[in-house]
Amino acid sequence: MELEPGEDAPATNRFPVPRRTLDAEPYWHGVRERRLLFQRCQACRGAVFPPRSVCPLCEGGHPLEWADSRGRGEIYSFSTVMRPPAPVWRARAPYTLGIVHLDEDYYMFSEILGPPAAIAIGRRVRAVFPEREVLLPAFELDQP
Ligand SMILES: [Zn+2]
Repeated sequence: MELEPGEDAPATNRFPVPRRTLDAEPYWHGVRERRLLFQRCQACRGAVFPPRSVCPLCEGGHPLEWADSRGRGEIYSFSTVMRPPAPVWRARAPYTLGIVHLDEDYYMFSEILGPPAAIAIGRRVRAVFPEREVLLPAFELDQP
């Protein structure tokens, strides 16, 4: 299923669709092409995510440009969900959500695929785009 502009799906019988903003349109276009995009400040070169209209890292509201991420990073934090918040998630549990520190030096909240016992802070991961109800990037464990 292609992503649709944000709407409040009933949490009980449909997977929620991400709320989209104008600033993030290039990001979602990248996701449709199985590319992981982020922004860089044209002045300080800092990596910015989630998408913004100006740099939040340095003074002066400098413009941002889009760049391709290699989609590689390491697990910064995570939590495995054993009891899903809505029935629609039940078949997927247990599943793991976490924060990945990308090699380009930005952080992304995402699902981390793999057996919960193998997921650990510091483990290397790479972005994947699983074919599911809603097209979203996730991360899978690199082989040790
Ligand atoms: Zn900046």
